[in-house]
Amino acid sequence: MDGMIFDIKKFAINDGPGIRTAVFLKGCPLRCVWCHNPESQSPLPELSFSPEKCIGCGWCSSVCPNGLDRALCTGCGKCAEKCYVGAREIIGRRMTVEDVLAEVLKDRIFYENSGGGMTVSGGEPLFQPEFTTALLEAAKKENIHNCLDTSGFAQWAKIEKMLPFVDIFLYDLKETDPERHLEYTGVPLEPILDNLREIDRRGGVTILRCPIVPGLNDRFEHADGIAEVANSLRHLSEINLMPYHPLGESKRTRLGKTSVPLGGFASREQLEPFRERLAGRCPAKVVFS
Ligand code: SF4
Ligand code: SF4
Repeated sequence: MDGMIFDIKKFAINDGPGIRTAVFLKGCPLRCVWCHNPESQSPLPELSFSPEKCIGCGWCSSVCPNGLDRALCTGCGKCAEKCYVGAREIIGRRMTVEDVLAEVLKDRIFYENSGGGMTVSGGEPLFQPEFTTALLEAAKKENIHNCLDTSGFAQWAKIEKMLPFVDIFLYDLKETDPERHLEYTGVPLEPILDNLREIDRRGGVTILRCPIVPGLNDRFEHADGIAEVANSLRHLSEINLMPYHPLGESKRTRLGKTSVPLGGFASREQLEPFRERLAGRCPAKVVFS
């Protein structure tokens, strides 16, 4: 059993409780306009090119079967192998469950001391359901605390298989107005809320994760919408607000994708009125992440 991974981040402290290893899977059915991991969207390996590193040696063009034409690029990786300054990189590699778990287990001591563990993230880990389920199950057999970072946009049957192996769902709630949700993410809100309610009904613990983008979803109506959802859950642990940052823009450019600037870094001070509005309407802890 193997999956397409684009990163394994050690000592992660914003992806669930304690110190964690975050495993990022490639592939996502959403197209959030604020996505800060555009390299995660495609399920296939992708070429990233950083022109500022290029020294113009020409080795890449000597091996590329497609004349370095981005539109024809298959992600074969031949150019990246030749590029010794790292201007060309392939994002995404296949790894087995055993290989990923071996990486995760290297830091067991840190999990035990901090209350941390493994977080499976993406992209959307439900996009590779068999691999994600197998990885979660294997980690659980090793008594690792598991978080699943998900948009919740998937068939319920896929989530149901993972339920026994997930300690906390880091569950995205990006926009509570259905029309805006469709506009900002490309997918409908209702199935996401249905899955969230079913997880809660089955006793699954959730942390709601809400990206907040000034001018898009920092409206008080959205804060009230989050509160309404939060108040309907019996097993909610807390709510994380994630201020927008523009780091995805440069990644998008390196991948040859169109950049859609949404402004600069959103500060916590700027979003504090939103946090206060939400915190005043539900008893759950509301913190910036
Ligand atoms: S191999 Fe790397 S450094 Fe050389 S021309 Fe290609 S991208 Fe630039
Ligand atoms: S990965 Fe590099 S060598 Fe392969 S098709 Fe794309 S540009 Fe050409």
